[in-house]
Amino acid sequence: LQERFVAANPASRERFEAHARFMPGANSRSVLFYPPFPLTMARGEGAFLWDLDGHRYDDFIAEYTAGVYGHSAPEIREAVLDAMEGGINLTGHNLREGRLAQLICERFPQIERVRFTNSGTEANLMAITAALRFTGRSRIVVFSGGYHGGVLGFGAQPVPTTVPFDFLVLPYNDEASVREAFAREGQDIAAVLVEPMLGASGCIPGRPGFLQALRTLTTEAGALLIIDEVMTSRLAGHGLAAQHGITPDLCTLGKYIGGGMPFGAFGGRADVMALFDPRSGPLAHSGTFNNNVVTMAAGHAGLTRLFTPAAADALAARGSGMRERLNARCAEAGVALQFTGVGSVMNAHFVGGEILRPEDHAAVDARLRQLFFFHLLARGIYASPRGFIVLSLPLGDDAIARFEEAVADFLARYGHLLA
Ligand code: PMP
Repeated sequence: LQERFVAANPASRERFEAHARFMPGANSRSVLFYPPFPLTMARGEGAFLWDLDGHRYDDFIAEYTAGVYGHSAPEIREAVLDAMEGGINLTGHNLREGRLAQLICERFPQIERVRFTNSGTEANLMAITAALRFTGRSRIVVFSGGYHGGVLGFGAQPVPTTVPFDFLVLPYNDEASVREAFAREGQDIAAVLVEPMLGASGCIPGRPGFLQALRTLTTEAGALLIIDEVMTSRLAGHGLAAQHGITPDLCTLGKYIGGGMPFGAFGGRADVMALFDPRSGPLAHSGTFNNNVVTMAAGHAGLTRLFTPAAADALAARGSGMRERLNARCAEAGVALQFTGVGSVMNAHFVGGEILRPEDHAAVDARLRQLFFFHLLARGIYASPRGFIVLSLPLGDDAIARFEEAVADFLARYGHLLA
């Protein structure tokens, strides 16, 4: 399949080699690399992508969840163009940021006050900063496999976590180890930072009891609970924390909430966020593009005209249906392949048994993941090399059916390899 891939993609290969002379790895996003060379995409429309060699793909990555609107939603384009008519960088407070902030506070019940950033990474750095300052403590509890941004990853792949925080890394979905840590050093813990579903580490849902325990333990110890909803806020109308009935002290957002433009936000309790009020608080928070009108406009249009809470719930239901059908197919075939996740975001894993933390799927032969990836590509389906699969609004039932057929075909051809 790899040989076929190389033969079919001469233009992507040529560009990869040319661009590598200017960028190490020919790109600025490590997640987009896969051997022998990644496809260069030429354009997108709806839920389709075309690469440089002219192949069309069903887009099942959707910009790692930021692309919930697809590639060319007229409502988003209209909002962006309208914003640009009035000037791009206004160097002042502007109406669009106030409007988007209000919308976010009304949509996510845990957010009483919010501030914008340019990425989820920055949002998490600011939330951590707030927690350290608010509590006067030094330690942040995170989870093995957690991903909170380019400098805040706690998985197997080394990332440059050089920020000066004192992290305690605990196993995910393991209430007892958190309880133990709080008993031992609760007075030093400023916050617990957690994804309600581990995203980058394989779409592993947090168990309700685990997430609830984090809420209880942080409250008892006077620490803050920071829920990273950068990826998961799309999985239910009012976010995944609300779905679990959990109100964190702070929460971070990103991805689709900026309408597909660069975006991040952190928010939560008014008393904590008051740290950033220049009239009274000790902390400054700046960023040249934090309130840029293009993002603010695109975000507002997306949340009000396309991805309303009802639309979010409906997309989640489509994703859950797809995942259940895929899992039923795999169970019927008796193979070690399963699809984990919540709603419209999922991950394929070539192991049997329950997956509660990244260690549970780490032993997989990487060649199976590669085989699956190139099999899907050959059938016109663009999913992530690590098996990450994401739905978007314009992705039709016909595309979902093509995906399910591709999995059936995979099982027929290679099922014998999946012991
Ligand atoms: N937190 C989570 C849970 C994420 O999935 C991501 C991005 N994949 C981030 C934070 C970082 O966001 P960004 O890439 O916008 O910096």
